[in-house]
Amino acid sequence: MKITQNYYLIVDLEATCTKDNSIPRHKMEIIEIGAVLLNSRNLQIESEFQTFIKPILNPSLTDFCKSLTTIDQQEVDQAPLFPEALKSFQSWFYPFGSYLFCSWGDYDKNQFKKDCKLHNVGYPFPGGHLNLKKAFSRFLDSPKKFGMTEALNKLGIELEGVRHRGIDDARNTARIVQQSLSR
Ligand code: AMP
Ligand code: MG
Repeated sequence: MKITQNYYLIVDLEATCTKDNSIPRHKMEIIEIGAVLLNSRNLQIESEFQTFIKPILNPSLTDFCKSLTTIDQQEVDQAPLFPEALKSFQSWFYPFGSYLFCSWGDYDKNQFKKDCKLHNVGYPFPGGHLNLKKAFSRFLDSPKKFGMTEALNKLGIELEGVRHRGIDDARNTARIVQQSLSR
């Protein structure tokens, strides 16, 4: 899990969804970006970013999605569209210079790529991606794939905030990295 860059840029996305997958994967859209910058030397969180995003293909959130994420309709209605949100996100993390885009699994990377394509804007992470879920299994030398909650349990860390909220998931992921690397 050790990296050469100065920061772990830990990102967690929430997206439009349905219980029965009637919004197919390729039509899911980001509704929240949560992110934290973890200093790779002292493992302290140096900065945080959060934005909601207004989806365009399925602008009305399903009851399932609202209940899963606790994000409400008004929050996405009043939010910027993806291109504008992406600009704010980039203006937040670009000044930190040396960072590695990380997330729990590959989902967030793939979802970013899809939304960039949908809105015809450039993908913001040319420097690659670290799949922390895989890194965690390697760290434990285990063939098991841990969900985020399972990883927190494994380390004896209590979940903080609300599961399936981007900013809380990003913070909890950061705590998994902090704990794993400081042992
Ligand atoms: P997560 O980061 O685990 O909160 O999940 C990211 C996104 O994946 C959510 O905002 C949903 O769009 C989708 N998702 C997660 N869990 C489920 C689920 N049980 N059923 C349907 N979609 C889900
Ligand atoms: Mg999440």
